[in-house]
Amino acid sequence: MSDRLVSAANRDEDSPDAHLRPQRLADFIGQAKERERLKVYIEAARARGEAMDHILLYGPPGLGKTTLAQIVARELGVNFRATSGPVIARAGDLAALLTNLQPRDVLFIDEIHRLNPAVEEVLYPAMEDFQLDLIIGEGPAARSVKIDLSPFTLVAATTRSGMIAKPLHDRFGIKSALEFYNVDELALIVSRGARVLNLPMTESGAREIAQRSRGTPRVAGRLLRRVRDYAEVKKAAEVTAAFADGVLQQLEVDKLGLDALDRRYLRLIAEAFAGGPVGIETLAAALAEARDNIEETIEPYLIQQGFLQRTPRGRVLTGHAFRHLGLVPPPRDPAQGALFDQPLKNDSDV
Ligand code: ADP
Repeated sequence: MSDRLVSAANRDEDSPDAHLRPQRLADFIGQAKERERLKVYIEAARARGEAMDHILLYGPPGLGKTTLAQIVARELGVNFRATSGPVIARAGDLAALLTNLQPRDVLFIDEIHRLNPAVEEVLYPAMEDFQLDLIIGEGPAARSVKIDLSPFTLVAATTRSGMIAKPLHDRFGIKSALEFYNVDELALIVSRGARVLNLPMTESGAREIAQRSRGTPRVAGRLLRRVRDYAEVKKAAEVTAAFADGVLQQLEVDKLGLDALDRRYLRLIAEAFAGGPVGIETLAAALAEARDNIEETIEPYLIQQGFLQRTPRGRVLTGHAFRHLGLVPPPRDPAQGALFDQPLKNDSDV
């Protein structure tokens, strides 16, 4: 599943993306509201010569959390240190990172919701008072030592804001929710990427890729690179909408960015379960995919596109999904708001 072309998860092949990353806040396209707020906070922190408040960024993968964290450090003119929740196994690992920070540096912790609770305890006083409280030794000989840290800014990212403990959540002065990008924004991102890659592309070519990028810049970058491969091999003078469309069709990414797995998922509910409701465990078994993968990587985009509803009784397809699959949507009971879910009103109905 992780090798899906339209997956928003970070993959090794995305590392060449590094030079596609916007470097300054002014180059960062989209997320206008959050960008404006960050701009003010960055300027204020710079003017005061103080560390900026801690920032919590949340939103689905691939929307630019790491990119924004790097931009904050660059705009503040300080060092950027990056790690991630699961990597910091012990309190000592975090202590080593924190004691090496220069004044006002940015420490980026990705996937903060996966931080070990013992490590999280150490983070609290560090965030609040720029102090480390460490216990050295064991048993009766154990003693606590306090170490002063340089004031720093923690930028933390999570895809699951609901999984962050309240005490941690409360220690972030700035909380920023990133949203899926619209097609106009993604088209600008693709055009800019094509310029960086020296790939001639028409505006409608960029739009064609943008429309299939699932609202996610990381997906846009990956599709762009695949289209570039084809353009180079086929010696295309420029990437037009028709050229991009041909390549992406060949790669089985449809007009809305759905791939073969998305369509298999939708068809299963439409055809085997008459549109639902159907429980997630049943779907997981039928698709031979892990439940988490389905919930985290397939469903969010389908829900956002209005293809799917999560109801207490299970997943239900919308008429829009049926039409996208080229199937006829079954009649809907307006009182139910769900397909096929029509309880008998009284015995005479039978
Ligand atoms: P996240 O940390 O949210 O998973 P990243 O910051 O790693 O996402 O971004 C994923 C990719 O998308 C990067 O290669 C980056 O270059 C690109 N990207 C993200 N946001 C933007 C943006 N606003 N404009 C242009 N490219 C972006």
